[in-house]
Amino acid sequence: MTKFKKIILRSFLVFLILIPIAAVAHFIIFPQESRCILIDYSGFKKEGRLYFSANTSPAKMDTLKLLIAQASFRVAGFWGKKNGDPKFIYCDSEEDFKKYGNERLDPATTQYKLGTYIVISNEGLDLDIIAHELSHAELYERLGFFKMMFTIPRWFDEGLAMQNDYRNYYSEDTLKVRSDNFRNLPDVKKFTTGGGFNEGSQEQVMLNYMAAKHAVNNWYSREKLDKLIADLNGGKSFEEAFK
Ligand SMILES: [Zn+2]
Repeated sequence: MTKFKKIILRSFLVFLILIPIAAVAHFIIFPQESRCILIDYSGFKKEGRLYFSANTSPAKMDTLKLLIAQASFRVAGFWGKKNGDPKFIYCDSEEDFKKYGNERLDPATTQYKLGTYIVISNEGLDLDIIAHELSHAELYERLGFFKMMFTIPRWFDEGLAMQNDYRNYYSEDTLKVRSDNFRNLPDVKKFTTGGGFNEGSQEQVMLNYMAAKHAVNNWYSREKLDKLIADLNGGKSFEEAFK
């Protein structure tokens, strides 16, 4: 065997060894995302792109399908059209939600990796919550994994998703009362990455969501959003594109 062939063979063997190591490492670091990617090999039942625990009642499934259809319609209206086609994973128990969603037990969450996975708990059976998660998936669809992770600040991602989330307790009216007529708003723009946005008391976290919604609402028009996406895809930084 020539030296060149030996190098190729050795590189190939190293590559074969690294794949399972990388897969195991990914599972250890991102257990929920890994399980979502492997949902087809779980015990969950499947109907189209909707996965659900085997013991979910037919009535709940009907509600879930209706809410997904209504939320999709709302999100398509906001974005002009719906580009994303996420998988939905409905977890009827807290135990399942911890496996696929998060330990925090949010009502729902969206995982972005090798596609989008909207993980919904029993508390997430709500039109506003599903529309919120679908909005995250739409932004991901337009920008891709790396821009979503490293370019889009957390406050903007949440503030944009909140535009399709009409829950009363996150409304402008609520924020007006809670912030002394918008004079005392939290500085949400400091939350560029995931960390701090969801930390603190429940009251503080809710205020962060309201303030992010308010900041995006003050900026938003369809034209501005389309231009922002085009500029980011053209290589501009968020700060340049958001001006
Ligand atoms: Zn969100």
